[in-house]
Amino acid sequence: MYPDLEGKTVIITGAATGIGKACAIRFGQEKANVIINFHSDKQVKETEKIIEEIEQHGGKAIAVQGDVTKEEDIKNLINKAVEEFGSLDVMINNAGIENEVPSHELTLEDWNKVISTNLTGQFLGCREALDYFLENDIQGSIVNMSSVHEIIPWPHFVHYAASKGGIKLMTQTLALEYAPKKIRINSIAPGAINTPINAEKFSDPKLKEGVLKLIPMGYIGEPEEIAATAVWLASNQASYVTGLTLIADGGMTLYPGFQAGKG
Ligand code: NAD
Repeated sequence: MYPDLEGKTVIITGAATGIGKACAIRFGQEKANVIINFHSDKQVKETEKIIEEIEQHGGKAIAVQGDVTKEEDIKNLINKAVEEFGSLDVMINNAGIENEVPSHELTLEDWNKVISTNLTGQFLGCREALDYFLENDIQGSIVNMSSVHEIIPWPHFVHYAASKGGIKLMTQTLALEYAPKKIRINSIAPGAINTPINAEKFSDPKLKEGVLKLIPMGYIGEPEEIAATAVWLASNQASYVTGLTLIADGGMTLYPGFQAGKG
């Protein structure tokens, strides 16, 4: 547990499901004030359950609908945080999407959709949080959800890989730019995690087996294991850490093909 997170206000985008949801609950367990951003009308019920769980742990939470690709929606998230809890201390830019298409068939529409959600959406979250931190003299913290695909090339997912590669240098650039203000900006690179984004793939035993072969630790990660890295990065325990991509992937980026002395 990280006592300095108690009473801090954190926005988490795309927090109705998967990693974002696990982060919301974990920050709630740390007794933080959580703004659960959700995208679709269909997610309202899920956010109500998350709020209930956070309150059971002694945290506070509200749900705010919004599309991370829209400037006005990101500004609204920050306004709601300040209205409800008086401040903003931590921004978790987590919302993201992917779809599989051979690159020569990828439409401009699909390219733009993934880049605008995964990269532009995270940039807008960073920009608005930074503007708020600077205006209010807050030494805040930003955590961007990247992926092992900021390192590992991923055929059929060129838009996704490009967005995550972009997040890497965006995070490092912003970290360097705002380090003198003691604002820390880091990212997390999860490997294969058990969330709705992978539901179809992991429900097919053959596809799941193929993924498991790429993970030296031999299991698919749980969203709570990613949330554990997010609270650490946001907490004072990481006070000297900025511009880092924290890889949480069960060893996926360690060239698993070389395991057992091959190569
Ligand atoms: P998920 O599909 O459960 O979560 C993504 C969330 O983003 C959903 O709740 C969705 O509604 C929301 N979202 C999508 N478009 C949005 C928009 N325009 N505005 C606001 N919200 C929007 O999947 P997840 O695995 O929890 O993904 C969370 C993040 O983790 C993503 O950035 C993803 O790229 C990253 N990631 C996931 C894995 C994995 O294996 N699950 C691995 C590496 C990185």
